[in-house]
Amino acid sequence: MRARLVFSLPLLLAVPASAHEAVSPVDRLIHEQMLVLDTHLDTPMLFERPGWQFDERHEYAWDLSQVDLPRMAEGGLDGGFFVIYTPQGELTPEGYRKARDAALMRAMAIQRVMAANGDKIALATTAADAERLDKMGKRIAYQSIENSYPLGEDLSLLETFYKFGVRMAGPVHSKNNQFADSTTDTPRWNGLSPLGKEWVKEMNRLGMVVDGSHSSDAALEQLIELSATPVILSHSGPRALYDHPRNVPDALMRKLAASGGVMQMNSLFLGAGDSSDERSAIEDRQAKWLDLTPAERRQLVADKAALDARQRSNEADFETYMKSLLYAIEVMGVDHVGLGADWDGGGGLAGIEDIAALPRITARLRKAGYSDADIEKIWSGNVLRLLRQAEAHAQGRSRSE
Ligand SMILES: [Zn+2]
Repeated sequence: MRARLVFSLPLLLAVPASAHEAVSPVDRLIHEQMLVLDTHLDTPMLFERPGWQFDERHEYAWDLSQVDLPRMAEGGLDGGFFVIYTPQGELTPEGYRKARDAALMRAMAIQRVMAANGDKIALATTAADAERLDKMGKRIAYQSIENSYPLGEDLSLLETFYKFGVRMAGPVHSKNNQFADSTTDTPRWNGLSPLGKEWVKEMNRLGMVVDGSHSSDAALEQLIELSATPVILSHSGPRALYDHPRNVPDALMRKLAASGGVMQMNSLFLGAGDSSDERSAIEDRQAKWLDLTPAERRQLVADKAALDARQRSNEADFETYMKSLLYAIEVMGVDHVGLGADWDGGGGLAGIEDIAALPRITARLRKAGYSDADIEKIWSGNVLRLLRQAEAHAQGRSRSE
């Protein structure tokens, strides 16, 4: 099939850029029939971009976006966690206030975009919602918080976001904050701060899933020990395969699995990226895609193709992604691994540039010998189990239920 594509230019042009390797009709059908969720969709960052519409099909090669409703249909992505992300700022009352307002605005943008597309997608707040919405033929929008910085020192704000429908949150992002040490900063708290420990209790009380991605190793270990319900890593990878602080060492992956937790495979930090000035100049031009004239757009696409031909944007590709995913499954078991590729947040690799390529993952897992039941656990069953456990705990039931 790959050879045929090379020889047939009209066919090549008709096939989305991300579908490099043909997926067999059987694999595609099986993928379509599975409930497929990704736990880290940074797409809400695009919701306020002028001229960008969630219900229009975009091209990754053009505007770098990776998720929209037409591509969710193409890639068989039923839904996932749409992220309220806030960059880390000053730990001052003024910094907290600005971050809180920005996060609330983002939460409102999610409500607005989902309501405007209510015939195709709907907000979900419980594990049972996934199946209910799927049966109605709708896609599924859970919400999560990346970086709890906007809560300031007022943990009651967590309930405000819970009322917006948020069901997953991580304490910290790329710099230490009031709750925890970041894995990409110098330790300040040696894990969680006293307020961070209170944050865990409030997360459990409300029935939200604790997300340890971006937390330092010590903070992640403390999250696992303190949380009454299993912890998720919404977008992380194995450090044994690529030594980066955002990846997780085997011992912690095993500890997470032993406590019932799940690691969702990230597509970032699997290999060295091209950090050349030439690459950042292209990326700067691309970030302004909507403002470019047609001639400028054509020139940009040509310049980018020329650069890609000379040097790859990242040494990791789809093969690296699958190798990392299979490694995580080997270390943690099929009940403790899922997918969270950081779409629209810097994720994506050659061969899986956007979500239209997701059927390739199912095809490869089948080829690797995993049963369809196991593959569906990886795509959605495991994260839904964690949601159910968080809900059950909040309702005062046994955590083993
Ligand atoms: Zn992230």
